[in-house]
Amino acid sequence: MKFFRNLSIKNKLIVIVLSVSILAIVTGFTIVAIQDIHIFKEDLVNATTMSTAVVGEFCAVGLSLGYDKQVEEELGMLLKPMPIIENGYIYDEKNDLFARYNKSGLDFEPIFIDREKFTLFAGEFLYNFEPIFYKGKKVGSIYLRSSTALLSRKINKYLLTMVMVMLGMIVLSYFLALELQRVISKPILKLAGVTEDISQQADYSIRIQKKGDDEIGKLYDGFNNMLEQIQLREKERDEAEAERERLFGELEEKNKELEQVVYVTSHDLRSPLVNIQGFSRELEYSLQELSALPGIDSIPAGLKKKFSLILEEDIPDSLKYIKTSASKMDSLLAGLLKLSRVGRAEVTFSQVDMNHLMQEALHALEFQVKELAATVKVENLPPCFGDEMQINQAFSNLINNALKYLDPQRPGMIRISGEKQNDYVVYCVEDNGIGIAEEHQQRIFEIFHRLNPDDSSGEGLGLTIVNKIVRRHSGKVWVESFPAKGSKFFVRLPTLG
Ligand code: ADP
Repeated sequence: MKFFRNLSIKNKLIVIVLSVSILAIVTGFTIVAIQDIHIFKEDLVNATTMSTAVVGEFCAVGLSLGYDKQVEEELGMLLKPMPIIENGYIYDEKNDLFARYNKSGLDFEPIFIDREKFTLFAGEFLYNFEPIFYKGKKVGSIYLRSSTALLSRKINKYLLTMVMVMLGMIVLSYFLALELQRVISKPILKLAGVTEDISQQADYSIRIQKKGDDEIGKLYDGFNNMLEQIQLREKERDEAEAERERLFGELEEKNKELEQVVYVTSHDLRSPLVNIQGFSRELEYSLQELSALPGIDSIPAGLKKKFSLILEEDIPDSLKYIKTSASKMDSLLAGLLKLSRVGRAEVTFSQVDMNHLMQEALHALEFQVKELAATVKVENLPPCFGDEMQINQAFSNLINNALKYLDPQRPGMIRISGEKQNDYVVYCVEDNGIGIAEEHQQRIFEIFHRLNPDDSSGEGLGLTIVNKIVRRHSGKVWVESFPAKGSKFFVRLPTLG
């Protein structure tokens, strides 16, 4: 059955048509042959029975009178011209052999069955036994033995002819099946060919031409409809892809522009700022010089008090504000510059040994760790795939925050772990610090967003930089935190598999 299943449609159809034809031909011919052979045998039986009766009738007078010589002569004379009769015996009424005829001159052993008359096929002979009557009284019987060689030859010849005709018809059926199978296999093979063309060329504009309205015609219609749908979807997908590409390009352009603006402004704003800082210092010196001028004591007392207020309080206070604002601006600009550098820096992707990277990052933070007497535990970390410098910067920021936001009321504990998950590694920087309230957990990744600006130093850029770096690696950063308990910062980065 498996062999049949793997045959081509063409061969399957030929096998089916041929099997049905052979079955019909062989069954039909067998039935006809059995009937004909039966008729042949019946004809021979009828002919020999008639000959037996006629010869018996002819010998009846001689037999009734006891003329055995005459009866034997008559028997020979009558049976000799009949080629199939081999032996003929006449028995008297006591069943004693009365006269005989042997074609070959040799006697034979007659077969008797307990009947008054019979016809019997045995071996290569046909046996006929008939009673002989004279004037209504049984005077004896006649026994003829005929050869069936002629009948066998006739049957053999007949069977040979039948087999030849049968073979001829089977061959004819094969050619007919070969021709007729095309009606079904051709359109299916055509469909298979078109399907292959389409899958190779990915050309969904091809259509298949139907020839009729049968099931195959309907199959063609369905196939063409399906192609139309695919073509339509392809078109929609291409258009959506083109639109996406366009928007992506636009976004990239805008991003670049924005980064350029941030870079240029943060860079260029620093020189006027340096001027502000420089000239504020100059003003400070000038103020000191002005206060030290000798003639100041000769100023009238009322004016002197006003002068002192301006020189010792108003101007120094204003200068103090200018200096703190300028230094605040300086650190903000430095932060912006740092952020824009992260976006602009070339990334070189490679397999990163995170155990080694973490050692280096912690080495740089050794002083802070010691000062805070914190315990830092690093578990065995799986490697990731990315830019070593940027990943170092991201984790340095996270560890730095973990240290910065520890709770002074309890010993600081920091744990760094990592776990491989399919094509990614998820690292976790966990601390038992002050924690973050749920409503702030999303916003801490926004630029310049700080929760308690007066409690600690910083520009609110650390996590923005972490987010930017992780996104450049097609990764993700998120936080789980509980106030007064601690925070867990998760970083998902790709691996090489
Ligand atoms: P910065 O630390 O300079 O303020 P970040 O962007 O690194 O800026 O952090 C933003 C804010 O998120 C911080 O001001 C702080 O309030 C909160 N934060 C960050 N990390 C932690 C942490 N590990 N535990 C508690 N709060 C944190």
